[in-house]
Amino acid sequence: MTNPEPGDWSSYAGLARLQRERLPLLLEAAARAPFYRKRGVPADLAEAPLTTKADLRDAYPFGLLAVDRSELATYHESSGSTGAPTASYYTEGDWTDLAERYARKWVGITPDDLFLVRTPYALMITGHLAHAAARLRGATVVPADNRSLAMPYSRVVRVLHDLGVTLTWSLPTDTLLWAAAAAVAGYRPGADFPALRAIFVGGEPLSAARRARIGEIWNTRVVEEYGATETGSLAGECPQGRLHLWADRAIFEVRDPATGRLTPDGRGQLVVTPLFREAMPLLRYAIEDEVEVAYTDCPCGWWLPEVRILGRTAFGGRTAWADRAGLTQLGVEELVFGLPAEFGVMFWRARADADRLRIEIEVAERYRTAAVGALTEAAGRAYGITADVAAVPPGGLVPYHLLTATAEVMKPRALFGAGEDWDRALRYY
Ligand SMILES: [Zn+2]
Repeated sequence: MTNPEPGDWSSYAGLARLQRERLPLLLEAAARAPFYRKRGVPADLAEAPLTTKADLRDAYPFGLLAVDRSELATYHESSGSTGAPTASYYTEGDWTDLAERYARKWVGITPDDLFLVRTPYALMITGHLAHAAARLRGATVVPADNRSLAMPYSRVVRVLHDLGVTLTWSLPTDTLLWAAAAAVAGYRPGADFPALRAIFVGGEPLSAARRARIGEIWNTRVVEEYGATETGSLAGECPQGRLHLWADRAIFEVRDPATGRLTPDGRGQLVVTPLFREAMPLLRYAIEDEVEVAYTDCPCGWWLPEVRILGRTAFGGRTAWADRAGLTQLGVEELVFGLPAEFGVMFWRARADADRLRIEIEVAERYRTAAVGALTEAAGRAYGITADVAAVPPGGLVPYHLLTATAEVMKPRALFGAGEDWDRALRYY
């Protein structure tokens, strides 16, 4: 399979032509994978059944492998909530496509950039993806990882500040934790990090209000990205701040959960067929995110469909009023980050109880009354339900030690000097 040419987005007709041309090659590649060989590959994608996450789990580890094992470059697993691993793997050629797609940031990634990669490297693709894209564009990578004992928040803040990091990649939530840790360390996030020219975020649904707040706190641009470990980047942001699907690299469809019908646009669950995949072809992969896709005429001039990521609407223990009112995490997030910036509310949680919406926010004492009053009113108005808003002091939701802890990783050691505390030092983690 040849590597794709970077983006011809000059017309929707051009995209359709490219998709038509690529499809036969893709179906051929899929037929080489044991999973699809067993299932049977139709002559036309329109007849292909969905490939579900359950299919991927059943095919663990190499049931979807369409090339010789020796051609693989990397192996990944996604962070499944069920515990059963979902494998994905890529060849060197696949990596050219993956890195190029991630690197399509409208603010650019240049050799002058210092790029902090603050998503996990362990098994998942996200850290490696940003790393490869930054290297592709000649930037200097600062591999900060996440969920790692070696890189607590205090160290992230030090690196951001001392190195003059220009670009970062993380969950949106992580940037708020940096802001809290920076404040604890005596820095003003909006003033003391002047080199930071853009914050790249992904991996979580992000409301317009939270996104705007992150930009305000850090006094920089926030650029969104959407993708998955099984597919890499699927959508990126244009200069107008809208997300566009990379339809020159994948066919996107939207599935109506009520009827199971697939259409090119509308609201429903996203279904993806990557057009350039060597190691692991996927036909109509049901990604299980709720989205809204529209073929619009965006002022940016990219002829790529627009997408809104609505996230997964399901949450545990639903109640009748929440269903009626269309309660979502994104909706509550809009309300919380709709509070005035001076209140400094960044961390919250909520629970849909049988007869009320309980919300907890972390807020400083002097804004407590105002914040609780404003949010109670806003939530009541939005959902037509009694909102029970409680304020907890800073540290109540995000523990203080998370923001101040220093790296404690040591190599195993067995020989000690007289008087050394060998209980503390002897550790294998
Ligand atoms: Zn646009």
